[in-house]
Amino acid sequence: MRPAQPPDLPSVPAPPQHPHHRQPGDGWVECACGRRHWGLFGAAGLLLARYPDGRTGGAPDAIVLQHRAPWSDQGGTWGVPGGARNPDEPAVDAALREAAEEAGIDPADVVVLGTSVLHHPDWSYTTVLARERVPGAVEPAVTDPESVEIRWVRVGDVEALPLLPAFAEAWPDLLGRLTAGA
Ligand SMILES: [Zn+2]
Repeated sequence: MRPAQPPDLPSVPAPPQHPHHRQPGDGWVECACGRRHWGLFGAAGLLLARYPDGRTGGAPDAIVLQHRAPWSDQGGTWGVPGGARNPDEPAVDAALREAAEEAGIDPADVVVLGTSVLHHPDWSYTTVLARERVPGAVEPAVTDPESVEIRWVRVGDVEALPLLPAFAEAWPDLLGRLTAGA
């Protein structure tokens, strides 16, 4: 699931000349809510948490956030790594695939705790809540051009960042789920 990295991956991401990993789910949905959303079959993202001393439940210490490239949709904001689902691809699989592609997160290092689905008339977004399998083991890194930065953000610092609006709206509930063990 983890793509090989080209040896000449630039250290400063630049806009790709064409979509760098065009997949069957790539495309916009004109939704009856009046907005358009990325992902013909919906989208999914990984909310990966680090808990103090590796315990599950109670407030997490930090989560992995992605500083989205300025040229991307709602660029410059912070959110979780994720993207469009492929046809018939379960949301958990899509979130783990995208986290591997965008953040170099090995699915083997992740324990899925649950999901949270945002339903729209013609689209959905699934947040996959997860924790590190071994505390301290995951060091996310920028592995494709969609990000300026990907790093652990302390939970107390999350709301100080310019968040993707949909993530900002969902974050209090998602934090509650993580705190309850998801
Ligand atoms: Zn919608």
